[in-house]
Amino acid sequence: MSINGNGTGVVVTESATPLPEGVHLPIYMDNHATTPLDPRVLEAMMPYFTTTFGNAASRNHSFGWEAEKATEKAREQIAKLIGATAKEIIFTSGATESNNLALKGIAEMYRERGNHIITQVTEHKAVLDTCKKLEKLGYRVTYLPVGADGLIDLEDLKRAADDKTILVSIMYANNEIGVVQPIREIGAFCHEKGILFHSDAVQAVGKIPVDVQKDNIDVLSLSGHKIYGPKGVGALYVRRRNPRVQISEQINGGGHERGMRSGTLNVPGIVGLGAAAEICRNEMEAEAKRETELRDYLKNKLETALDYVHVNGNMEHHLPGNLNMSFVYVEGESLLMGINDVAVSSGSACTSATLEPSYVLKALGLGDDVAHSSIRFGLGRFNTKAEVDYVANKIIDVVRKLRELSPLYEMVKEGIDLSKIEWAAH
Ligand code: PLP
Repeated sequence: MSINGNGTGVVVTESATPLPEGVHLPIYMDNHATTPLDPRVLEAMMPYFTTTFGNAASRNHSFGWEAEKATEKAREQIAKLIGATAKEIIFTSGATESNNLALKGIAEMYRERGNHIITQVTEHKAVLDTCKKLEKLGYRVTYLPVGADGLIDLEDLKRAADDKTILVSIMYANNEIGVVQPIREIGAFCHEKGILFHSDAVQAVGKIPVDVQKDNIDVLSLSGHKIYGPKGVGALYVRRRNPRVQISEQINGGGHERGMRSGTLNVPGIVGLGAAAEICRNEMEAEAKRETELRDYLKNKLETALDYVHVNGNMEHHLPGNLNMSFVYVEGESLLMGINDVAVSSGSACTSATLEPSYVLKALGLGDDVAHSSIRFGLGRFNTKAEVDYVANKIIDVVRKLRELSPLYEMVKEGIDLSKIEWAAH
């Protein structure tokens, strides 16, 4: 999507018909990519940019003490959201760093015990690319497949584990298809086998209940900007008891964060992350219900009005605000252009020169065409029913128009079996 003058990356077109009440363009419905900062979070952060600007590591004056107090409060707030203790929270620059620290830090620390890591094919690149790097360093990585519903099979995990397996890393919820993995069962298996269990819980924390004790998680990554907090700040939960997890630091210099992550703490960011976590804890239950209703409303509206649409990913084990849908016989980028006053994501990713179909959708068994025709809707705290109505109507309208121009759609409507056609090569 190109960046235009309004700085949102969304091109706003003049609307011929008046907008429904409460709808302002552009509409943001891409809350898995990032979330807007909650005004209450900004308010909590403000003093730490100005008056309370101390370095949390300054031990001999009140500026430092105040800053440290604020970061300790944030540690508590985050710990409470995931059932941890404050001492188990390590601050980082975001979940990419948390994932790197978890995987590389454990791989290095437990190298004597083994060199095998298990993950899955639909992980975020922050895990997959880290695994690729570890493979180059001599580690063995098993990438578990997922079923057509996006879930891993526990039996595959059990078969893959051997006496050299030191770590299992499976994400809590997927950022594209919103599928929630059987985390508790995975954790129980890992604990039974004495294997450490890391989960990239960026999309789940603050949206659905996450409890590191009940879920048997040893190490967990989370990020501020996915929970209405600031960008550039995140955390890694590192279990201290049963078992006590040790992580080899990846950034050296001063021994901050119990030696696991050096660097002056981003105090305003950390305060924001803490405030965001507390708001999620207080409002999560009601908000999850609201978003689920909105999501189902959107899904039903689209399914009722359009044929050849289908939902990607298991809908029973699913994030409240996620809906990933394929609009077959429509090209995703054309669809996105047709709804250019709405910010959503397509099932394509721009690599250097080409538009690649999403590797997550491909892992579910979708063909390139169907993957390209997919849209990820990410509903969030600030989306309203009026916005959902606007977006649904617009999609319905654009899909119908695009299909009028689609020879494939016409042929299917005429009852021609496309799989039996021999296309001429050119
Ligand atoms: N993991 C998942 C599942 C994500 O969705 C993201 C963000 O896109 C990340 C990791 C990376 O997080 P951050 O942007 O904080 O580095």
